[in-house]
Amino acid sequence: MGVLTATIKFKVSPEEPLLNLIEKYIQALRLSLNWIINHKETRLSKAHRALYRELREKYSFPARIAVDCYREAISIAKSWFKNPNRGRKPIIKAKRMWLTYRQSYTINLEKMVVKITSLGEIKLIGYPSNIEEYSDWSIREARLIVRNNGVFLHVSVKKNTNEPTPSLNAIAVDINEREIVYGFPSKIARDKTRVEDCIKIKKHINHLQEKYSFSKYKAWLRPKLLKRIKALYKRIRNITEDYAKKQAKKIIDYAIKNDKDTIILEDLNKLNNNSKRLKKPWRERLTYMTYRKLQFWIEWQAKKKGIAIIKINPKGTSTTCPYCGQKMKQIAHRKYMCSHCGFKEDRDVIAVFNLICKMEVALTHPTAPPMKHVNPNKGGELVRNNRRMRVNRGFHLPW
Ligand SMILES: [Zn+2]
Repeated sequence: MGVLTATIKFKVSPEEPLLNLIEKYIQALRLSLNWIINHKETRLSKAHRALYRELREKYSFPARIAVDCYREAISIAKSWFKNPNRGRKPIIKAKRMWLTYRQSYTINLEKMVVKITSLGEIKLIGYPSNIEEYSDWSIREARLIVRNNGVFLHVSVKKNTNEPTPSLNAIAVDINEREIVYGFPSKIARDKTRVEDCIKIKKHINHLQEKYSFSKYKAWLRPKLLKRIKALYKRIRNITEDYAKKQAKKIIDYAIKNDKDTIILEDLNKLNNNSKRLKKPWRERLTYMTYRKLQFWIEWQAKKKGIAIIKINPKGTSTTCPYCGQKMKQIAHRKYMCSHCGFKEDRDVIAVFNLICKMEVALTHPTAPPMKHVNPNKGGELVRNNRRMRVNRGFHLPW
């Protein structure tokens, strides 16, 4: 059994009593956080004893909102205590508020209202277009957030899913810094990644960092530079995240369109054993980050759509001949050829073939050019890793 979680974002009518409540909550949260940090006390029972009555009386909170408030303060304090590089005390700037489902809020999607303890019903004035998709999900905690463009309610939802069984009716996904390559041997698709865009930004960051570390650089400009550097790093994260989400959806749709029920991914744990110890170049690190994020979203989408995911050790998948298991030779940039059987392809396509091959799928020679000394239609004779492949073990071969 797998668990799928998501956040649904609503826009809430910005009514005065609601804004007042959030304002009070922030003050109460600051007070609670101060007490917790000063007393180095993150146990619920202690926080309750010290803060509950005060929050109730000073801010006239209903019981549950007082509890949500010191619980949120504890969680902020805990993550601050845990952070080994923690600087000064955390400051609460953002206007947001925790809500516990059924205790401090309920939501009614028929009437499009949220009911908050002590406030009554408040209209939801904006919601995602795919809201029906979540009709059978269970509702959990929520966060009220005040931004310049309105008040928002982020509702966490959860759904239990059945883990589908992987089958050979699969597509494989491989990545290089420029492209994401996915599909099955008779149909391969390629899309651009955004690694190159991120590298451009990283180059700009390097340039700014050089400026920053230059000791004669005007002191008054330093905070500005630092802010700019931070914003650029955030931009890299946003670009990658946004790309990964969209691309994952595209790949899942591709699988469904082609009647595939399984997606094969590279097992990154096997791939990057020493990546933490070795300082890899940025290009590689950004590619790795992109693939990791993409995998996360592919797995998420797959769970949602009932598609199985299988992870395979990618060792040697881009340079081993998928037909005869021989090491292939590089003949051009990213192009490899097998001197044994003459099969030649782009290394990403080879990887896709091999990932599927590793799932024990027997291949025919769909795209290889005809060779003088090889009859590509001699089925049943394909040998991989020096052993006979079991062709047609009762599987329906999809190509
Ligand atoms: Zn070969």
